Amino acid sequence: MARFVCTRCGKCCMSLGRHIRIERSISAAQHYCRVTVTGELLPVAVHPQHRDLFSSGERDPSWCPFLRKEDAGLFTCTIYETRPRICREFRCRTMIIYGPGGREAGCVKGRRSLVTNDPVLESAWREIPPDSNDAVLKEILRKHSYLAELLE
Ligand code: SF4
Ligand code: SF4
Repeated sequence: MARFVCTRCGKCCMSLGRHIRIERSISAAQHYCRVTVTGELLPVAVHPQHRDLFSSGERDPSWCPFLRKEDAGLFTCTIYETRPRICREFRCRTMIIYGPGGREAGCVKGRRSLVTNDPVLESAWREIPPDSNDAVLKEILRKHSYLAELLE
């Protein structure tokens, strides 16, 4: 199983902004954060290294209130060390699929949403029964010369 690597594109945090809000601020760096989908209320702290970014970095009212865009174009969670559980557990990609020659041919989002531009992989994917386990999925793809690797 390979390790999931976040590229800091910010997309998930932009959409999660609808579900995360600052309920109460104790100071400029200490806040109570409400996760509306789970009801969780937790204290969070803006990391000292990100305080300037939090107060003056680029943001958008529709994003998570703790997300900031840096000059280089990368996105930063300013409370990363204390972020809610929903954020700790989130993986935008659950599987990578490699094609012949080891090229990355596609990935899976959520449980079974294939993202690919490869028509051969799309065709092989349609052979996988919806309720099959990962071993069956891997075996079907292997017969078509694709290697599926789960991400943890
Ligand atoms: S978890 Fe995925 S969607 Fe979210 S910032 Fe990282 S790479 Fe982007
Ligand atoms: S708390 Fe951090 S990881 Fe969670 S949505 Fe906001 S910016 Fe993203």
